[in-house]
Amino acid sequence: MVGNLPEVIPVRDDLRALEGYHSPQVDVRVRLNTNESPLPPPDAWRDALAAELSRVEWHRYPDRRATELREAIAQMHGVTADMVFAANGSNEVLQTILLTYAGAGRTVATFEPTYQMHAQIARVVGSSVVEGERDADFSLDPAEMRRVVESARPHVTFLTSPNNPTGLVEPAERVDQLLQLGAGLVVVDEAYAQFADWSALSMLDEQRPLVVTRTFSKTWSMAGIRLGYVIGPTWFISELDKVVLPYHLDVAKQIAGRLALRFVDDMDERVRLIVAERERLAAAMRGMAIDVTPSGANFILFRPRSVSGRGLWQGLLDRSVLVRDCSSWPRLANCLRVTVGTPDENNAFLTALDEVLTGDDVVDRSTPDPSANDPSTKAPS
Ligand SMILES: *Cc1c(COP(=O)(O)O)cnc(C)c1O
Repeated sequence: MVGNLPEVIPVRDDLRALEGYHSPQVDVRVRLNTNESPLPPPDAWRDALAAELSRVEWHRYPDRRATELREAIAQMHGVTADMVFAANGSNEVLQTILLTYAGAGRTVATFEPTYQMHAQIARVVGSSVVEGERDADFSLDPAEMRRVVESARPHVTFLTSPNNPTGLVEPAERVDQLLQLGAGLVVVDEAYAQFADWSALSMLDEQRPLVVTRTFSKTWSMAGIRLGYVIGPTWFISELDKVVLPYHLDVAKQIAGRLALRFVDDMDERVRLIVAERERLAAAMRGMAIDVTPSGANFILFRPRSVSGRGLWQGLLDRSVLVRDCSSWPRLANCLRVTVGTPDENNAFLTALDEVLTGDDVVDRSTPDPSANDPSTKAPS
């Protein structure tokens, strides 16, 4: 015996302080905590997928370049296939971008609060992370962007629009300003773009270090498939192709993604329903003792005024409604995030919310602690 293995083979020094992430998976009636689509993809997609899968030559490696999938994605966005790179979820896209342009000895900038995986993946690949700060209303001050870029000279800078977990849509001029400041490779994470009224796709240019990431996990109702992509200049895409593992995209996923794009109208229809429900939810919540952040996504960040966020989260859970508890995340004291569900699910959420906020049985009516700041409960999605 060689003694305690973790001592014999210690983890990399720079990973020792890193927290894992966790999103409680509780068995509940109404699950509104991970920003998935509440509706499945269309039956016709399922049938087409089953038909094509029955003809797959499973003993062969998949098309290494995912040619047909890239072409279908390119066509949808009106770009060429050499401007598209796809991977296993946009998280793997982000990881490949960071392995290629960040990594050890390089710096990545984020503006917090934002999607936790940007900083997390950057650290895992060995980069240092510089966290800029958003204002109290979660908007981004150009002076803060300038401070971060000029002091840290980042190799990669992230913006998320609409932002997660705030839901705010980033003004287009922020992207321009970052490019003018020379913020390295500017990555705009557009996991929720179809729910918003603006996309950075129109700003892409072969002469600009700007790329846009998308996912099939949200609007496309395919979180189970794990497929995402990035659109960017051709010189950028060809670097990613060198770094990613060979045959990283399996044959089933390539087919599933390509077939999904035949059902854009169904996707648009789901998006319209969710946006209408989002506005209905937000209006109803504004009538309660709650601060609601304006959202351009399929979720709403909110903060109760009369109870603690944690108490409200527990009260909802007691009524079998699960939302995301962000109340102990840095900069998000007492905040919760609800994913927009089906009309029935949203009604169940509103009823439970009203019960907890007005009921006698309310858990914790103590004044919210605005300094609650526990970075140990960071979580993605
Ligand atoms: C959900 C989400 C993603 C999606 O990640 P996948 O790996 O594609 O499921 C990416 N970015 C943000 C900001 C998200 O909220």
